[in-house]
Amino acid sequence: MLVRGPWHQGRVVLLGDAVHATTPHLGQGAGMAIEDSVVLAEEIARAADPETAFTAFRNRRFERCRYIVEKSLAICNGQIGKGPPVARSSMIRRISRRRAAAMAFAFFRPTACNLKSAQAWRAAPAGSFRSGRACPKKISHIVLHSPNHQALVTWFCDVLGFKVSDWLGDFMCFLRCNSAHHRFAILPGPPCLNHVAYDMLTLDDMMRGAHRLKLKGIDIGWGPGRHTAGNNTFSYFVTPAGFVAEYTSELEEVDFETREATVHVPAPQVMDQWGIGTGGPQTLPHPHPNPGLFVAIEA
Ligand SMILES: Cc1cc2nc3c(=O)[nH]c(=O)nc-3n(C[C@H](O)[C@H](O)[C@H](O)COP(=O)(O)OP(=O)(O)OC[C@H]3O[C@@H](n4cnc5c(N)ncnc54)[C@H](O)[C@@H]3O)c2cc1C
Repeated sequence: MLVRGPWHQGRVVLLGDAVHATTPHLGQGAGMAIEDSVVLAEEIARAADPETAFTAFRNRRFERCRYIVEKSLAICNGQIGKGPPVARSSMIRRISRRRAAAMAFAFFRPTACNLKSAQAWRAAPAGSFRSGRACPKKISHIVLHSPNHQALVTWFCDVLGFKVSDWLGDFMCFLRCNSAHHRFAILPGPPCLNHVAYDMLTLDDMMRGAHRLKLKGIDIGWGPGRHTAGNNTFSYFVTPAGFVAEYTSELEEVDFETREATVHVPAPQVMDQWGIGTGGPQTLPHPHPNPGLFVAIEA
């Protein structure tokens, strides 16, 4: 069932199954209801009146909900002989490739700030990621600071199911959630972002990407080099807004279940195996609380 008209009347708005009930075949109904609630909250927070908020909420949600309602019904009809067979797994894959109007989860971390993961993307056209184009392929990893980084590591592992891949001394922890050596790393410091790393297809693409930035007047802040933890190559830049971004490639693949964590003793050629790059971590912006990005909450 899909309500194609408005989802609200006056100050009353419907969400979840009340406006887009699916057959259970895609296993998305509860997730869709939760997404609705997040988007509705965002629109109410930013709109001047309920009419504007409810209209914007429905506009953001409709296409995604329509797709899931129609595809789950198609799978159901295929299974009961009322339509052609439809492969559930390919439908699921297509959902993740489609633009998500908004998917967001707010994690209230134990150490003074919240972390919100959101996705809103459109799949890149086929062939976009050819070597030589020097375009970032995807986010490789994110590094955060925390006033109690040990507690945050424990929380990532116990609550979100991450595993520790490596430590650099006792101050930097590399965490994995799949076969990539790390998708998050945690450092001590005020609650803020350290940097976001973008995965380049090859080492050559990382270097060509650095060249592209150089042509735009942005020099490498640290690199090029190769870290020891994760064995990935790196070049760090400071964005015009003052954030640090990294181009990286060749991040180590590990066995998610069995990899044993190593403690690397910090030294220049542990931080950078090549040792030929410019700058260093000390030349990048120092961490400072960023209330615009991470809103501190009561501990
Ligand atoms: C067999 C089956 C399997 C499913 N499997 C999955 C799955 O694997 N993954 C997934 O994401 N989704 C799954 N779903 C779908 C998922 O359960 C629903 O999409 C989800 O629960 C919708 O949430 P909701 O809050 O919109 O509605 P509901 O969960 O239906 O909540 C509505 C609530 O309102 C109450 N209510 C109704 N009328 C009144 C009234 N007049 N006054 C007061 N209260 C009222 C109801 O009692 C109910 O508690 C499945 C559904 C079914 C039936």
